[in-house]
Amino acid sequence: MNTVKDPVCGMMLPIGEGLSVVSQGQEFRFCSELCQRTFLARPERYAVASAGVALGATDVSRRIVYFSMEVATDEGMPTYSGGLGVLAGDTLRSCADLKIPIVAVSLLYRRGYFEQHLDEWGNQHEQPVQWDPSKLARLLPATVRVSIEGRPVVVQAWQYDITGLTGYVIPLLLLDTNVEENAAGDRDLTSDLYGGDERYRLAQEVVLGIGGVRMLRALGYTHIERFHMNEGHAAVLALELLGERKQGEQAAWDFDGVRRACIFTTHTPVPAGHDQFSYELVKQMLGDTTPLEVLQMLGGRDRLNMTLLALNMSTYVNGVAKRHGEVSQDMFPGYAIDSITNGVHSATWTAPSFQQLYDRHIPGWRTDPFALRHAISIPTQEIWAAHVDAKRRLLGEVRKRTPVPFRDDALTIGFARRATQYKRAELVFSEPSQLIDMARTVGPIQFMFAGKAHPKDESGKEIIRRIIRIAEQLKLEIPIVYLVDYDLDLAKLLTSGVDLWLNTPLRPLEASGTSGMKAAHNGVPSLSVLDGWWVEGYVEGVTGWSIGRGASDAPSREGSGAQDARELYDKLRGVIAPLFYQDRARWSEIMRSTIAFNASFFNTHRMVQQYTANAYV
Ligand SMILES: *Cc1c(COP(=O)(O)O)cnc(C)c1O
Repeated sequence: MNTVKDPVCGMMLPIGEGLSVVSQGQEFRFCSELCQRTFLARPERYAVASAGVALGATDVSRRIVYFSMEVATDEGMPTYSGGLGVLAGDTLRSCADLKIPIVAVSLLYRRGYFEQHLDEWGNQHEQPVQWDPSKLARLLPATVRVSIEGRPVVVQAWQYDITGLTGYVIPLLLLDTNVEENAAGDRDLTSDLYGGDERYRLAQEVVLGIGGVRMLRALGYTHIERFHMNEGHAAVLALELLGERKQGEQAAWDFDGVRRACIFTTHTPVPAGHDQFSYELVKQMLGDTTPLEVLQMLGGRDRLNMTLLALNMSTYVNGVAKRHGEVSQDMFPGYAIDSITNGVHSATWTAPSFQQLYDRHIPGWRTDPFALRHAISIPTQEIWAAHVDAKRRLLGEVRKRTPVPFRDDALTIGFARRATQYKRAELVFSEPSQLIDMARTVGPIQFMFAGKAHPKDESGKEIIRRIIRIAEQLKLEIPIVYLVDYDLDLAKLLTSGVDLWLNTPLRPLEASGTSGMKAAHNGVPSLSVLDGWWVEGYVEGVTGWSIGRGASDAPSREGSGAQDARELYDKLRGVIAPLFYQDRARWSEIMRSTIAFNASFFNTHRMVQQYTANAYV
């Protein structure tokens, strides 16, 4: 039904009904004489209010801002390196669907995160990505200045619109120092994601935290009440907020006032994931804007620890899965650390064949992914047919990229995530003879790997080389490929097209993990170490299978791999492969219950609603 809004009381009227007034060439409708009279007393007030709504995309009445060093929004925009950025993108997509009044701030990265190439020995070569920001985002008219090493650096912003299924738009502001007025070195400050040295990194955090707050002010975002720091990279914003509130030498620091506005999500128990800078560097970079005494009080005595700064300046802190919340609480006793388990954006991570299946059986699932629990009544043959289609699409892409002879009907195992030591990508190859024997006696198996190593992570690069060597050694028995340049598109194909999603991190270092949730949206069960989200997501033989002991157990250590590998082989050989080859009906039931249990819960709609209830209000 077509309706118009009474500008005074806000109630909706069917078009053509009510009392009419024409003011400044625009027609307004009123439900009652009371509203009409109120309007006529001060028409200018209501004209302004309706103009604010009409602006839509540039509506500045946002109450929450989300700061993230990386955001993955668009296949063509290389402004992310991995899980953190993909989560940020999914979060904002759900915010748009749910009409959460949020604005997001990140950096533009003209050279992006690198494009990955692998030579025949598996050596990773990194190349900058070519992309044109003006094709995806629009340059905003405002500029602000931040001081870096005593130089004023001009910051501009590009707006990328994230439009929800509801039509609601979340503005993502991408800060950029590539402005003519800046010196050559400063123009490159926002060019590379995780490139350069500590100095470069801290400069980027200053642009994000201080430049971000100033840009919001310059653009007229005057209603912001909550500053959400997605990881400690954005903690510098708290210093800017403190500075804003300290008017004059004599005024007291308003720690409480700033703290009430800040929210902090920590994403990793791995120490290298927590930025720390020497106070010497901090002083060179920031000058004396915040006295050393205050910095040390908030961020640590010897070095400025961004996690500590964020913890001290936030009213609400959370980890990204229940287990990770506990681990973070142990790492930082004295702070109250809650947990909100990650999710993925359902409509984004569901393959076309499953989208069609859900559209037929569960209309409305895109805006209400909780409804995916009704997948439990979809006929298993239809689930299997949708999977066959998703697997065909993956194999089509893989055959374009490699001559390795993959089979349509073989049990296909996927493993794709950042190539870094604690994720233990090679655990499954601890005893290759086990796999060869299984392939000969139970049925063929094949593996697909993908993931970039951080340019400075030599041990991560070594993992890729070793997997490529193993692939060569086993090629007559087990097809294995390492697919290059893992990105959103490849992640969509892999998480939907394999038969089993494998995850073997060293406990408790996987804070959450989200790729298994993407797989679950396509009925792909996981075989995983009990860490991160899997502690909550696994129901043995219903949503997948576990490796190793439960969450309450002591952490696994380097060297505990043999035990984990043994359990992995036992499950694969004793349970999973026989089920896949000998009981397709039962296998399809597991796919179905994986969707009903896990896609209906591990989605960003649920997650954003928890942030809203626990942190934003
Ligand atoms: C989902 C995703 C990740 C994160 O996967 P994890 O399981 O959390 O490690 C990394 N990179 C890309 C491209 C992704 O889509």
